[in-house]
Amino acid sequence: MKLSTIHYSLCTIFISLFSVCFTAAATEDWKEVKSEHFIVGYIEDENFAEEVSHRAEQYYSKIASDLGYSRYDNFWTWENRARIYIYRTREEYLGATGAKEWSYGFASYGAKTIVSYAHSEKFLNTLLPHELTHLIFRDFVGFKGEVPVWLDEGVAQWEEEDKRKAAIEAIKELVAKKDIIPLPRLMQMDVGEVSDSEVSFKFYVEAVTIVGFLIKQHGESKFTLFCRQLRDGDTINAALSSVYSDSIRNAGELEKEWLKYYGG
Ligand SMILES: [Zn+2]
Repeated sequence: MKLSTIHYSLCTIFISLFSVCFTAAATEDWKEVKSEHFIVGYIEDENFAEEVSHRAEQYYSKIASDLGYSRYDNFWTWENRARIYIYRTREEYLGATGAKEWSYGFASYGAKTIVSYAHSEKFLNTLLPHELTHLIFRDFVGFKGEVPVWLDEGVAQWEEEDKRKAAIEAIKELVAKKDIIPLPRLMQMDVGEVSDSEVSFKFYVEAVTIVGFLIKQHGESKFTLFCRQLRDGDTINAALSSVYSDSIRNAGELEKEWLKYYGG
């Protein structure tokens, strides 16, 4: 089964468009639904805004707990709440934000804001958990440490649970064909700069299955610790060897174990 490559390029491309969107949002007649960690802005469709608010809170708890972040439970409350803006229609959203024709939403890390339009099922099921994970993960690891793009994208996709099965099938196929991007190269890649859709497809499949391998094979608490070590300034190799010292002491051993896990 092929994963959609179009979706994958979404989040990196649209981050930069946020300032356009925010200006447009501020001039409209926006109402708000407030919950513990979110303020959902909407113009007309209160029901959809309520649904977004409800789903966002559910995802928030799950993602924070998966990342071992729940102990800092007040990190998105009151004036620090994240904002989600919902336009009335797809046309209005596209017109106000200047987003590309095929986009159904995007996020801004810096402003902790996500933007979409009413009745977008893809937004609720796919983009919302993906982008929320990016925002929470970045809050957790910050911007100073050596956190590679594959890890960021791997974690965000891991939280789109519907994607996991397709990603596992895809990596098994790539492993069987010996057609993977070698890990040393993956470590250095910024997928936002990749224009070849086959390469970006492999990038995303590899990213999520490395995260899947680490979590499923070695447990969530070690994975949280691994991310924390990176946040605190460890290199990838130092973080791997301090957390997974019994089996994975560097990126080379990670590659070997990960491929073995998926049939290599
Ligand atoms: Zn992403």
